[in-house]
Amino acid sequence: FFSTEQQDVVVIGGGPGGYVAGIKAGQLGMKVTVVEKRGKLGGTCLNVGCIPSKALLNASHLYEEATTKMANYGVKCSGVELDLGTMMKYKDKSVSGLTAGIEGLFKKNKVNYDKGHGKITGPNTVEVTLNDGSVKTIQTKNIVIATGSEVTSLPNVVIDEETIISSTGALALKSVPKKMIVIGGGVIGLELGSVWSRLGSETTVVEFTNRIAAGADGEVAKKFQKSLEKQHMKFHLETKVTSVVKQSNGKVQVTVEQVGAGGHSGTLEADVVLVSVGRRPNTQGLGLDSVGIPTDKAGRVEVGDHFNTKVSSIFAIGDAIRGPMLAHKAEEEGIAIIEQIHNGGGHVNYGAIPSIIYTHPEVAWVGKTEEELQKEGIQYNIGRFPFVANSRAKTNDDVEGFVKFLAAKDSDRILGAHIMGTNAGELIGECVLAMEYGASCEDIARTCHGHPTLSEAVKEAAMAAYDKAIHM
Ligand code: FAD
Repeated sequence: FFSTEQQDVVVIGGGPGGYVAGIKAGQLGMKVTVVEKRGKLGGTCLNVGCIPSKALLNASHLYEEATTKMANYGVKCSGVELDLGTMMKYKDKSVSGLTAGIEGLFKKNKVNYDKGHGKITGPNTVEVTLNDGSVKTIQTKNIVIATGSEVTSLPNVVIDEETIISSTGALALKSVPKKMIVIGGGVIGLELGSVWSRLGSETTVVEFTNRIAAGADGEVAKKFQKSLEKQHMKFHLETKVTSVVKQSNGKVQVTVEQVGAGGHSGTLEADVVLVSVGRRPNTQGLGLDSVGIPTDKAGRVEVGDHFNTKVSSIFAIGDAIRGPMLAHKAEEEGIAIIEQIHNGGGHVNYGAIPSIIYTHPEVAWVGKTEEELQKEGIQYNIGRFPFVANSRAKTNDDVEGFVKFLAAKDSDRILGAHIMGTNAGELIGECVLAMEYGASCEDIARTCHGHPTLSEAVKEAAMAAYDKAIHM
């Protein structure tokens, strides 16, 4: 659905930032075009990120439950076997259903959609090389850069997506590797490492720093690592990868070097090596130079507080700018930038953006960690409540983890909430809302929570921050 008219806004990139911006603009009656080169909407998140990884996490969790746990509840599963091909088809179906859904939303909201590569050629012009090879130029009042990010590798490590893979390859392996090495103990490495570990790979994570799950509260990260170790994942922390070489026998040799007291030196061997060391913004070939828009050292478009670049008609959002590389952060920015262009409003509260690791147990947090509060010299109270004392977790026979609130010592205002446990990603929503409204722990504790639910652990942890929990 093309348009040749001058547009109010052209969005380059159809990921969570760009497609949400497109829909919001359509809803506000603006003339809007979204340019996406992938051939499908949804960006990294829907095609090779959040959605396929969660489909595989769900399926591999069910497989693990069927093979290890269900008999305990009188559900005897005989002859349980893994059919990886069907599991991958289920994952592909979750992706295709959602990407097609966005096309439907574009039509409903009158969003023009150009399949092609967008390049800025002036403050008000975008040149689109359509996927069929033809070229067109769109005139527009405003341009929103939402080009997202792509996988990066280590120096001299060539990703072939078969034996040396990125997250994209890890979502499409054709067989379960006997041994897998995951380079990088961040969210993506831990999620995809645990998928393959559950399906039978001996999985070892090599991490440069002295902890996993960067960004999470230190206490949570330690307990989380122990939990993953119980699930047979191995960890080499304070260990640097110096080379990754494919051998003539098809295996991959990884040479590692100790960088701290807990580190490891030597060589490791695996059938598959997953490189999950971060992502780099997609800002090359976008024509930024032609309009004088600078990028920072990491390649991100430099923006001010209102997503504004040096050119007053050009804005940028999502993974292509500073801040956490998260789909929901990109979506918030997509709405905010359109509202801003439309009527000058639009705002994102970066202090209340949740982070979630969708392993089992899940890890979720919002706001400050203890380490951050200590660094900033802020006095705080802690309220903790373990799921082992929560009736729903007990009846579900799934008691690992805890809820932890950090609240200002003087006012009880919530400064951070950290959860490790089943459904932590859903439970954190209440804490994010509380922080958005500047709530205190007492506000949560005096709110009636349904029984028996896991959310009662959130209430009790909040209680423990300023008084005493009831069930502990
Ligand atoms: P993207 O989603 O990267 O979309 C940008 C789009 O722009 C792409 O489709 C690209 O093809 C297109 N594009 C780029 N340049 C051009 C151009 N010049 N012309 C036209 N089109 C162009 N985040 C979460 O919040 N939760 C999760 O559970 C989660 N899981 C993840 C799991 C994995 C394995 C990965 C890799 C990422 C995950 N993320 C998750 C991160 C999330 O995917 C990103 O933060 C999010 O997709 C960023 O959205 P975006 O719109 O900024 O960019």
